[in-house]
Amino acid sequence: MTMNPGPAPHSLASTRSVGLDLAGRTALVTGAASGIGRACALRLAAAGAKVRAVDRETDGLDMLVGRALEMSVPGSVEPLVLDLTELDAAEAAAAGTDILVNNAGLQLVRPIEQFPPDVFRTVLTVMLEAPFRLIRGALPHMYGQGWGRIVNISSVHGLRASAYKSAYVAAKHGLEGLSKTAALEGAPHGVTSNCVNPGYVRTPLVEKQIADQAAAHDIPQDRVVTDILLKDSALKRLIEPEEVAEAVAYLCTPHASFMTGMSLALDGGWTAH
Ligand code: NAD
Repeated sequence: MTMNPGPAPHSLASTRSVGLDLAGRTALVTGAASGIGRACALRLAAAGAKVRAVDRETDGLDMLVGRALEMSVPGSVEPLVLDLTELDAAEAAAAGTDILVNNAGLQLVRPIEQFPPDVFRTVLTVMLEAPFRLIRGALPHMYGQGWGRIVNISSVHGLRASAYKSAYVAAKHGLEGLSKTAALEGAPHGVTSNCVNPGYVRTPLVEKQIADQAAAHDIPQDRVVTDILLKDSALKRLIEPEEVAEAVAYLCTPHASFMTGMSLALDGGWTAH
């Protein structure tokens, strides 16, 4: 029996290399003032998108806008100061976006019996409930036009647990489920939803963890990277934020239009164990 594979999407058939042209697209990136979010905002703006850069840190957003101007990106970066625990405002901010990058996050490294319940709740709110509300706010426009891209910055900790990270691991595992559900519901409407799962990325979030882990394990900070952070990684280096942003950009290309409900591990071989 011969299978008819059907026509390739027009944009794919006419594109010879993996390119990304987001002119006319609006992207919302949360946690855009720092680290991975900042790199994603700049990458999407470099591809021509109008980027709504959401964060609670005004100074970091100002620096991001300055960097985009220095780079003369063809798109634009529009800062929006917002604390994502304000869930109604978060949902409203997502209206009209074509691409949603759920990236904002925070970490506290502490054994469960010492983990403050209010911090646990905040981590779940920012890293799971806010993404749900942002997706909820973005979908009507995406469904209306028959195209949308949701990229959830999960983690190797969406796929594996580590001691002392109960809230973070719980939130990321929840985000994986939310992302897959959005993929199933979005498929008939041209909307894909995927996770990107980095190992340890060189950002302020990790720099803070090195100090916290040193205290939790009672070892010097210089041993934290080699003995703890990269213990399960086959590749013995931190990833750069720009490498994560490139994976996010790839998921927005026509070449990735059949990828949905998946988790793209950039973990140096950690989950190969
Ligand atoms: P980062 O600390 O450099 O940046 C996180 C940003 O989120 C900050 O700008 C912060 O202000 C913002 N944010 C936090 N709480 C917020 C809130 N309530 N409202 C609005 N903004 C808020 O961190 P990063 O390393 O770039 O991490 C970004 C994402 O990548 C997170 O979801 C994190 O879990 C994930 N991640 C990071 C690593 C890593 O090694 N750095 C690895 C895997 C996954």
